[in-house]
This record gives sequence, C-alpha cells and structure tokens, in this order.
Amino acid sequence: MEPSGSLTLRYAVATDVGQRREANEDSVYTSPRLLAVADGMGGHVAGEVASSAAIAAITELDRKLADADDDADTLELLGDAVSDAVDKLTELALKDPRLHGMGTTLTTLLWDGSRFGVAQVGDSRAYRLRAGELEQITRDHTVVQELVDQGRITPEAAITHPSRSVLTRALQSGGEADPDLFFVEVRPGDRYLICSDGLSDVVPFEILAEILAEVPEPPSVVQKLVELANAGGGPDNITCVVADIAEAPAEDGAAGPADAPEETGNPTGVDVPVPSGAPGAISSTKSTKSTNSAEPADSTADDAEAATGEGTASGEATPAASQGNNTPE
Ligand code: MG
Repeated sequence: MEPSGSLTLRYAVATDVGQRREANEDSVYTSPRLLAVADGMGGHVAGEVASSAAIAAITELDRKLADADDDADTLELLGDAVSDAVDKLTELALKDPRLHGMGTTLTTLLWDGSRFGVAQVGDSRAYRLRAGELEQITRDHTVVQELVDQGRITPEAAITHPSRSVLTRALQSGGEADPDLFFVEVRPGDRYLICSDGLSDVVPFEILAEILAEVPEPPSVVQKLVELANAGGGPDNITCVVADIAEAPAEDGAAGPADAPEETGNPTGVDVPVPSGAPGAISSTKSTKSTNSAEPADSTADDAEAATGEGTASGEATPAASQGNNTPE
C-alpha cells in the first residue's frame, strides 16, 4: 500500500535526553508514511527497551505496508501493530524478569496520501495546526484527563496536577493492547506535531501554537521546540516530529519516487551523528549507559538527534531501516 493522492508530507524529527535524565527512554520513527513517538517507562533500561520494542513494531508495520494491498484496512493494520508491540514487550519480559512491568506510550500516525490513521495509547500527543489554530487530536490516557472529563478538575488545573503523568493506559508487558484508533482528515497547509510529554508538559500550549504557526520549516520547528523544553528545565526526555501537508508538484506523475527520510545533519546545531543506515529512524540510544547502540557512546545531556524527510504522496515510499530494536542481549 503506497500513499496515493496529490498531497506531500514533509517532516522533521528531533529527540533529546533533556537536562535531568541520564538516559533517553523515548523512541521515534519517521518514514514517508509513518510517524511514531513512544515514551518508555519502567526504570533502569526497561523504559528504553519498551519504547524501542514498540517502535520496532511500527518499523515492521512499515515493511508490511510496502507489500499491502491498496485497499488494506489502515486502522486494522495499526491495531495489529499495537498488538504486536505488546507481544514483543511480553516476550522480552518473559526472557528477562528485570523487564517485568515495563511499558510505553505510543502515538502513531499512518499517512495514506489523503488522511492519517491514528493509534494512540498513553500520554504522548498529536496536535494539528490548521489556519493558525492548534488543536490536540489525541486524548491522553491519564487519571488527570479522566478527572477533567468528569468535570472534577479544570483543564488548567490538569496542567500542573501532581498526578498528571499517571497513565490509565499504556502498552505493557503481559498487558492487552487497547489503542484509540481513528482517522484524521487532512488538508493542505495543515501542520502536525507528535511529541512526548517532555515537550507538552514543559512548553505551554500557547507557546507551542505560536512556534508552530510562526516558524516556517519543520527542521527549524523541531529545533526550536527542543530548545524551549530544555530552557524550561528539560525535566524529561524530549521528542517531537513536525509534519507539514503540502500540495504535491502539479506535473502529472512527476513526483517520482519519494525521497527516503533524509539525514541532513543536525538542525539542532549540536554535532551528533545520526545512526547510519537508518534514515528517519531514531531510537532512544542516547543513554551514556546504552550498550547496544548504533551511535557513539559519548552522548551527553546536551546532545540532540534530528532528521528530516519528505514523502511525495504519489511516490514510492522507502522503508527506513529499523533502529527501534536496540533491546538488550
Ligand atoms: Mg516522558
């Protein structure tokens, strides 16, 4: 199944350990048809393992999509990938009891050329900027969100609530996959943000809206967002993907093969190599303790990884290599 239609997806991604954490437990995957952010939890290496395993399931989905029929059911494919992610977590925890109870969020957007299928579990988020207005298009699976829904606290109180990170749903070893699955209609000019709570908890909604509305190119946007989260104390790992929807070039069939997600150095201005051979895929290998890592082990808290890409809707998507499965031996 290839993205079809007249719209082009242009995106950039950045992930950063932040200022206080020793390791980056976020993982992220981007390709011309899939954008995904996972925020792992579980302590020690478990969080990294969990988010990497979830992203590995998304990477696998991307491979399957290359061979899928054009009429394949997008939401079913997404749901299956989420189930696969849980199975991977369960399998890993059975092999290594130290990983028992590990979990991760997963926010995934699957682009079919005219709309996004969305799979959502946990409190990573997707937002849409349309005509200057920012809107959160995923719903947090948190205790605090439920309190807001029940009218027991205000949305304003939720922002600083001490239990705001307590999840009601996550992908967990031994658990069940229970994602929200839905479509989002897409228009030219839309801009999408997918991020972990290391961004959305730290940078206020109004500032996110301002940056997304005012900064023109996705690589500059993700750089700015990471800077702002770090300037806000960087209490958690920060990951963001920004994707713009544009009209594809008018020439008939001239869009050609989609560019593979391109590594264009580092828009954040920090000189850190991105994992080679894995355009578009960035995983949580920033831990100074990370052993099975595709990147040098000398990452510091100031390091940020970034990549950009462009996928023409009518072109051939190039699956990115997996970097999401850096699980321990
Ligand atoms: Mg987080």
